[in-house]
Amino acid sequence: LQEVYNFKNINKNTKLFGITGSPLETTSSPSIHNAGFRAHAMNAVYIPIRSDSPDEAIDFANKVGVRGLSVTFPHKESILQELKQISEKTGAIGACNTIIHGDSGWQGHNTDAIGLKKALIAFTGFKSFRRKRVAIIGAGGAAKAAANVVKELKGHCCIFNRTVSRAREIAENYGFKYAFLGLESLDLLESYSDIIIQATSIGMKNKSASHEKEDPLGFYDFRGHECVYDIVYEPKKTPLLQRAEKAGCKIKNGYTMLQYQAYEQFKLFTGEDYE
Ligand code: NAP
Repeated sequence: LQEVYNFKNINKNTKLFGITGSPLETTSSPSIHNAGFRAHAMNAVYIPIRSDSPDEAIDFANKVGVRGLSVTFPHKESILQELKQISEKTGAIGACNTIIHGDSGWQGHNTDAIGLKKALIAFTGFKSFRRKRVAIIGAGGAAKAAANVVKELKGHCCIFNRTVSRAREIAENYGFKYAFLGLESLDLLESYSDIIIQATSIGMKNKSASHEKEDPLGFYDFRGHECVYDIVYEPKKTPLLQRAEKAGCKIKNGYTMLQYQAYEQFKLFTGEDYE
């Protein structure tokens, strides 16, 4: 409590921030944000606020006077209906990971996209994906941010998802291809494999024991040329990343995205640069 939350210094003037979603057991966001408050000598604390629905989270935040929240799995899309205003980027992506309480109510922002963009550029070393063929695995909130980033970086892209209609909806928005996530799409995946962005929740610790052991690309044999970025960061190496590394691929987990998006959130919460 003292090390992460600076518990002994919390008083009635302490500004309250947090993260909401479920599960939250493995989130690293409190460590990142509270370290930032400490470094800037701010009287503020950032806590996990587990919620089963976005309205439950907002209701609690209103009652206790929370000023800003990170929004995580599974509320990034459903939170939108609770907000008074959303940023242009949030509207374009269709998912929100940051809400701030302003004069007129809750405002939504998306820092996942800028966080992922910085993480992907640092990981691949490419400032543009103009000559790259990119696969996005998944079509949830994180995949929406990924699609926005790949479009900005000018990559050619195909989105693969279990529920094809969700992949189609995003792909049509950006002029990308889309396909079912499974063996029948093997040829297509092979042809979009320069950079593979894993953006489903599969492999994530604590979702469920079986989920953690799964590999969304079990039907695909890595050939070693692929750059594989797994948006999941807990565990550090998902079964997918372990297999990709063994095949000689360049790999990275989602912790760098988490850090970069948190720094942007910190700026929105406090008006100060994190670093
Ligand atoms: P979401 O909106 O609920 O989307 C979940 C995605 O996973 C969907 O594409 C879903 O497919 C797919 N999926 C779930 N279970 C599946 C299964 N058994 N088989 C095949 N596909 C399955 O979640 P999200 O907000 O996008 O988050 C996704 C993951 O990214 C989470 O683990 C989250 O923690 C992580 N994330 C990390 C960062 C970071 O900073 N590193 C940022 C954002 C998110 P269907 O459409 O078919 O259901």
